Amino acid sequence: MRTLDYDIVIVGSGAGGGTVAKELAPLCQKGMRIALLEWGGRFNDHDNTRSEVEMAQKYYFESGGVQNSGQEMTFALAKAVGGSTTVYTGTSLVLPDEILEKKWAVPGLTSVDLKPRFQKYLKENNVHLLDKSLINENNQLFYNACNKLGFKPSQFPVNVKNCQGLGTCNLGCAVHAKQGTHVVQIPSAEKQGVEVVSFCRVDKIEENCVRATVLPPEHGLEASPWPCGEYSIRTKKIILCAGAIHTPALLLKSFGSFHHALGKYFTCHPALILVAQHDREINNTFGHPKSYYCEDFMHSHGVLLETCMYFPFTLAKNLVGFGPDVDDLMSHFNHLQMILVLIMDHARKENGITIDRQGNPIIHYKFNSQDIAAFIKGIRESARIFFAAGAKRIHAPACKSFFIEARQAAQLDQLINQEEFKLGKMSIASAHLMGGCRMGENPQEAITDSWGRVNGKKDLYVADASLFPNSSGVNPYLTVMALADRVAEAVIHDYRKGL
Ligand SMILES: Cc1cc2nc3c(=O)[nH]c(=O)nc-3n(C[C@H](O)[C@H](O)[C@H](O)COP(=O)(O)OP(=O)(O)OC[C@H]3O[C@@H](n4cnc5c(N)ncnc54)[C@H](O)[C@@H]3O)c2cc1C
Repeated sequence: MRTLDYDIVIVGSGAGGGTVAKELAPLCQKGMRIALLEWGGRFNDHDNTRSEVEMAQKYYFESGGVQNSGQEMTFALAKAVGGSTTVYTGTSLVLPDEILEKKWAVPGLTSVDLKPRFQKYLKENNVHLLDKSLINENNQLFYNACNKLGFKPSQFPVNVKNCQGLGTCNLGCAVHAKQGTHVVQIPSAEKQGVEVVSFCRVDKIEENCVRATVLPPEHGLEASPWPCGEYSIRTKKIILCAGAIHTPALLLKSFGSFHHALGKYFTCHPALILVAQHDREINNTFGHPKSYYCEDFMHSHGVLLETCMYFPFTLAKNLVGFGPDVDDLMSHFNHLQMILVLIMDHARKENGITIDRQGNPIIHYKFNSQDIAAFIKGIRESARIFFAAGAKRIHAPACKSFFIEARQAAQLDQLINQEEFKLGKMSIASAHLMGGCRMGENPQEAITDSWGRVNGKKDLYVADASLFPNSSGVNPYLTVMALADRVAEAVIHDYRKGL
């Protein structure tokens, strides 16, 4: 066991950890030692082959197939320097005031406070609207059909620079066009003196001490800068940024269930995919995969529709059915249009993270009738969009037959129904993991205060998506960064005050 001394240790290097590292980096010039410990490896230019299964294995926890305890859904989260920002799609939305004020209602957390933080990262990470000429046909069909039906599609701002339209954002960008924390914030932090330690898994937190193991490199990635083995790292402050599954799990493993809400109130925007087959080839693989969304059914039904593009293996495993129908659809891959249906779930105490005897996270997530009704609405409206776009036939979950043909378009409400929505038989996935260490100003209800300080634990902070007291209702990474920025400010404040 090696013993080291640092002033600040940050655990996890995703949207939260990368942001905190960059914000605290100027302290290195004052002689402070800061370490950013990351379980995953560092990806260099030559490490990304864009091969679907290979890259899923390299980037994701359990190749992207982490399941809930009921095995009804999967969770996508990355293990890499840059965390899930390495594989995210880069759609960049600001937390709506309405969610902040009504659904979150955290005293002290106001839009006046958050606005400049959002503006900082919108600029730093190059968020902008893509020129319309760069939008591919899969996206364009959605936009045109929404307009035809009288819906109001919106364009996603994205955070790319010199994008070559490879379309494989979710396998990690092979040309680093997406401006994740591994491209923007972490290199800046390193330049200023923050030490980034890859393949360093934090096993336990103690008061002013982090216990970690440096692992041998995997998948041909570069080795950790620290020799393999066990470490005891003494530190003045610890900032947990391991994400909405691993931060609550680490706290539970380290301190037990010290708060009744720890690990609870987890939300994740559960999502499923619909596919339409056109009778001609459409450009679906080249270009940014996600250009538009439709919020028309958000307020009334709690469901959001987004364009999307699943790679062949992922698509095949997300179809509801087996055999010749699947082969038939997959053989027309370059004729396919896709839509993602996301439901805006609400924080409930029964949904959350616990740990097993070894301290590994277990995710508990149950759907209620409101969630299922939201899914059904989203599936029906997506089916309408497909047929308005001119699809020949579609594949929709919650339907008895594998295909719905264009001639059946008038019967969508009968064909897609709740009796056919069979949990465990259909593929539901989530990439927006939120909550578990919810913030708030009432220590009876919240794990941290509104600045990320863990209640009852000195020198311990949380700065990642686990802080969300409820779902964000929009794609969450910018909100994670804005909150992490605020936590970094609190750390600096506490230092100055000698707290
Ligand atoms: C496929 C995909 C697409 C997405 N697309 C979008 C999008 O377009 N727009 C959007 O807003 N959001 C998107 N998201 C969500 C977004 O990426 C996350 O909300 C955000 O990255 C969460 O930030 P975080 O810091 O909480 O966690 P993460 O970014 O997941 O970072 C957590 C890090 O902690 C590390 N870690 C965990 N445990 C330990 C440990 N014990 N020791 C050391 N390190 C540890 C992990 O390896 C990981 O690197 C997407 C996510 C995925 C997976």
